[in-house]
Amino acid sequence: MKKIGITTTVPIEVLLAGGYQPVDLNNVFISDPNPEHLVRIAEKDGFPLNCCSWIKGIYGVCLESDIDTVMCVTNGDCSNTVMLMEVLKHKGFKTIPFAYPEQPDIHNMQQTLEDLANTLETTMAAAEEVRRQFESCRKLADKLDRLTWEGNRISGFENHLWLVSASDFNSDHIGFCKQLKELIDEVEKRNCYPENMLRLAYIGVPSVYGKDLYRFTENNGARVVFNEVQRQFAMPKAVNSVAEQYCNYTYPFSIYNRIDDINNELEKRRIDGIIHYVQAFCYRGIGDIIFRDKFNLPILTLEGNDNFYLTRHIETRIEAFIDMLKRNPKK
Ligand code: SF4
Repeated sequence: MKKIGITTTVPIEVLLAGGYQPVDLNNVFISDPNPEHLVRIAEKDGFPLNCCSWIKGIYGVCLESDIDTVMCVTNGDCSNTVMLMEVLKHKGFKTIPFAYPEQPDIHNMQQTLEDLANTLETTMAAAEEVRRQFESCRKLADKLDRLTWEGNRISGFENHLWLVSASDFNSDHIGFCKQLKELIDEVEKRNCYPENMLRLAYIGVPSVYGKDLYRFTENNGARVVFNEVQRQFAMPKAVNSVAEQYCNYTYPFSIYNRIDDINNELEKRRIDGIIHYVQAFCYRGIGDIIFRDKFNLPILTLEGNDNFYLTRHIETRIEAFIDMLKRNPKK
């Protein structure tokens, strides 16, 4: 299969049906042993310092890898991607734009997916077949999520890593399923996290801190039991069609769709406090104004840029937040 880079979560069922193997460029960037190097490649080529590090990292991955075709989401993700697409085209990459419809309306979604299938010279019937093949992976992702917030046996970082990797199933859904199943079998034997640990929600785009953030909160007596956007990427809800699946996906649509989803989970998962991560120079950070009004829980907003580890300043803010939650337990 021919590799295709993706700049965010897209209907991979259609891509696979069209003979493309999706590679989530974000995951390649953030799991690189030297992500700073990928950001510097972009800056050397003229990307401004005040451009989001994810965009620069994706560009660095494109230049360093053997990928020559990239699907760029032009509606429902990020305006920076539109110019990234133009630059990639200028550099000789084949780019395929994909625009989510304005609203999660099933008919518009179906039409959008059919147009994509036509572009990739495949059919929606073939994409539905791929969706069925992915059902077991999505069920396992749901089980992992439940073992995090209900079973209390999976760490916040493991939850993050597996759910975020479901955007492309690490380019090998059979291997993904096998490894996830092994993990789930293994954790059944683990001790549970203590009941009295504080429970955190992590909302917003995945952070540049990776494991550090989760490890640090756990060392301070609070664990993340809800990774909002990562869970959206995994699409664990059972559905009857690809169109329905991508209508349930809240990330490309209005912030109010996300708020409904988050509010449901906050209650169900008995959350004590929220960490809202925003990426420097990202328009999504403005949504913090609305989140602070809509959620009835303490919120810590963290902004990250291109430090791929927690600075002492951020650690102090997290410590103070957890301390405040401990002193003011939920009634
Ligand atoms: S973090 Fe924000 S600015 Fe950066 S790629 Fe994602 S949506 Fe775009």
